Amino acid sequence: MSVNISKLARASVQAIVPYASARRSMSGGAIWLNANENALASEYQLSGQFNRYPSCQPAALIEGYARYAGVRPEQVLVSRGADEGIELLIRSFCEPGKDRIAICPPTYGMYAISAESNQVASVIVPLQPDASLDVEALTQVAAKLVFICSPNNPTGDLISRQQIVSVLEHFASSALVVVDEAYIEFAMQASVVDLLAQYPNLVILRTLSKAFALAGLRCGFTLAAPEVINALKQMIAPYPIAEPVAQIAVQALLEQGIARMQQSVAIINQLRTEFSAFASTLPGVSRVWPSQANFVLLQVPDAAACVSALQQQGILIRNQSAQLGLSEVVRVSIGSPDEMQALQQAMQDYFSNTG
Ligand code: PMP
Repeated sequence: MSVNISKLARASVQAIVPYASARRSMSGGAIWLNANENALASEYQLSGQFNRYPSCQPAALIEGYARYAGVRPEQVLVSRGADEGIELLIRSFCEPGKDRIAICPPTYGMYAISAESNQVASVIVPLQPDASLDVEALTQVAAKLVFICSPNNPTGDLISRQQIVSVLEHFASSALVVVDEAYIEFAMQASVVDLLAQYPNLVILRTLSKAFALAGLRCGFTLAAPEVINALKQMIAPYPIAEPVAQIAVQALLEQGIARMQQSVAIINQLRTEFSAFASTLPGVSRVWPSQANFVLLQVPDAAACVSALQQQGILIRNQSAQLGLSEVVRVSIGSPDEMQALQQAMQDYFSNTG
């Protein structure tokens, strides 16, 4: 008798389409420009033994990030990437089957997937055609958490401070407003971290995966009022941050680590400007979204064909056409200068043959 063991999983789990992460959905290739990582990596040292369990919230790391972000240590939670922060917010604040989150697509896919895997529904309030929030529509929605991504993945644009303030004020006593600043170092002046002092319903997500070039580390931060941080601490695993992770993250947040990060941001922002200008000259590229992050979204005639032509040259980029409100778009992460040169050559060849 053959038994399909996978059918033993919860019905709601069987229905989930998992997030198509870069490492899950594409392999091979020498040039990886499909996951918004930072190609400009640094080396780190590990010291000590690992026979003891780590602290749940290593004090040196919490203090290091608080100093870097300009907040108090009680306002910081460290987790396995910002993705775990998203999950913890949903698990701590949303009743399964009852509460809802609001999302503003096209945006980062994990908000809806994390919600769905916790039996929490998502209310969809699409961004306006100019990529701003539809504040009017958001204020008609009942939600426990409102997710705003700024700079937004995959479009790359910032959400204005004024719009974020309007949303915070509207939901002052009914919902947390989560501003995902995973890419904020590429547009640091736009951070709304200072608004934490004024709005206890503001939550900010940050990560070391992007500007700090530590995606492999799995280290993210939630910044919020101590009451919110304490609720998340009640849900978090006993030992979420492995000792080597804590040691490396502490080094990244020392003065010289921050200076290295800022140098790489300057290089990447320059490469992004050059790449965006190049892409807008290509026959067949009908739109280049202005980006404040380390990736650029492009409208092309046939996204799947473009991704596969570049893959044949060993270059991985991401098809974002399945995103609500987008069709035939590809997202290109900004890599090293050499990688960008190879990409531009491959795109030039592809578009001059198809355009
Ligand atoms: N938010 C956004 C907008 C992202 O693009 C990503 C990474 N793809 C994350 C959060 C998650 O980052 P982390 O690696 O810290 O889990």
